Amino acid sequence: MPKPTKTELAKYKQVLEKQLASLRGDVGSMRDEALRASEQDASVDHLADQGTDNYDQGFMLGLIENEEETIKLIEEALDRAAGKGDWDFGVCPLCLEESENLKKQKDVKTGKVSKAGKIGKAGKAKAIDPWIPKARLEYLPWARFCVRHQEVEERNRESA
Ligand SMILES: [Zn+2]
Repeated sequence: MPKPTKTELAKYKQVLEKQLASLRGDVGSMRDEALRASEQDASVDHLADQGTDNYDQGFMLGLIENEEETIKLIEEALDRAAGKGDWDFGVCPLCLEESENLKKQKDVKTGKVSKAGKIGKAGKAKAIDPWIPKARLEYLPWARFCVRHQEVEERNRESA
C-alpha cells in the first residue's frame, strides 16, 4: 500500500472533522436528553415508570460512551494527520513494529550469518507493509490498525 498522498490526507481530514462535529452534536443532545430524563425521574414517583426510565438512561449512557470513544479515536486520527500523533496517519503501528523487528532480524542475519556463508536467506523474508489499505481508510479514516491487528486488539480487550 502506498502512503496517502497530500490530497488524500486532506480528504480524510475533511471527513474526520465533519464526523467529529456531528458526533459532538449528538453527544451534546443525548446528554441533554439523559439529564431531562433524570430530572423527570426525580419528580415522578411511579415505580414502573422509573424502571423504564432507568433502562432508557442506561441505554443512552451506553450510546454516549460509544460515541465518546469514537470522538477520541477521531481526535487522535486528526492529530496524526496533522503530524502531531504517536505515529503517521495511515500507518498501522503494530505492522510497523513487526516490520522493524523483521528488519532487525535481517540486520543480524546479514551481519553475522553471511560470514558463515549463508547469504541469500535474509533477503527472502517478506517485508511487511505498515500502510493501512486505502479502502479501509476511506471507510474508517480513524482506524488505528489494519484489519488483522484490529482483530488482535479486540481479542486482547475482550480477554482483559
Ligand atoms: Zn497491522
